[in-house]
Amino acid sequence: MLLPGFGAEGQARLAQSTVLVAGCGALGCGIADALARAGVGRLVLVDRDVVELTNLQRQTLFDHAQANAGLPKAVAAAERLALVNPEVALQPEIVDLGSGTIDRLAGTVDAIADGLDNFETRYLLNDAAVRWGIPLVYGGAVGLTGMCLPILPHPRHRRGPGGSVRWTEAESSPCLRCLFPEPPPPGASPTCDTVGVLGPVVAIVAALQSAHLLKLLTGQHATLDRRMACIDLGDNEFRFMDVSSAGPSEECPCCGLGEFSFLEGLAGGGTTTLCGRSAVQVTPAGDGASFDLAAVADRLQPHGRFERTRFMVRGSFAQERTATGQPISISLFGDGRAILHGIDEAERARALYARYIGS
Ligand SMILES: [Zn+2]
Repeated sequence: MLLPGFGAEGQARLAQSTVLVAGCGALGCGIADALARAGVGRLVLVDRDVVELTNLQRQTLFDHAQANAGLPKAVAAAERLALVNPEVALQPEIVDLGSGTIDRLAGTVDAIADGLDNFETRYLLNDAAVRWGIPLVYGGAVGLTGMCLPILPHPRHRRGPGGSVRWTEAESSPCLRCLFPEPPPPGASPTCDTVGVLGPVVAIVAALQSAHLLKLLTGQHATLDRRMACIDLGDNEFRFMDVSSAGPSEECPCCGLGEFSFLEGLAGGGTTTLCGRSAVQVTPAGDGASFDLAAVADRLQPHGRFERTRFMVRGSFAQERTATGQPISISLFGDGRAILHGIDEAERARALYARYIGS
């Protein structure tokens, strides 16, 4: 309240705001923590995965007990944040952000924070931000490097009411596809799971993203840094690139030409290889609302050791082995989504899913 630009009025605006934190990994943890402490009224915490021991080096909302319990990250983050600031409304969502789920999750928020680890979903967020007129704060970190950019999409293709953050056409900025028209092919980019990431570089990027979000939510567009921040703790350079010449571009497939191919992607389910982890995610078709976790847990029982928690079923198969002879394990969520650990091949994952859970 003491800070110029915030004050009692800014604090009240924060209290009335909702932010979608897309991904509760390292960046998502940092952003959600900062926003909860700043008094943002509601946080929608979305993550498809569970806490693992190897996350703790950088994912600052989680602890050993949560990793040992295999708690879903969205739930674990909400547990922690409820202790930090009990006045924040927390909405944990254990789902895969996709064209079938983004409507419900992003449709009513005031800003979107990118805490993702993959480009396909990042482009989906960009589509949603342009289509619905919601500011998006992009962030990424890997190795010793990080990037951050606030995106205020051009309103020419906007449909829907948008959130509380308003800006003029002159204040709009290049979207992700103005800068990078297509996402890199799968496997082309290093990830935190393949090359690692230094915890502090994540903290820097998450702090920049949080600062952008707090300024946007309190209407301080004039002092928003619209440049792309590129941080490299290897050569110790902080670079700030003016990207205003890149857009909003009339030739941009998204904010220029109005193609929303990621948003309109078929919600037909599929598989995702979780890079560097020897794990494959299988997503069934539909929104998962009719999936009966209890019934499936009963059916799985004879086939290995499985335990059912409030949020999921996890365990390992007695007869299904990895290439090195270890039992293949599974995490199965309430929306029907499964992560199969110990395999890399999508076909095998689909086959196991079909055999034990049903397609
Ligand atoms: Zn664009």
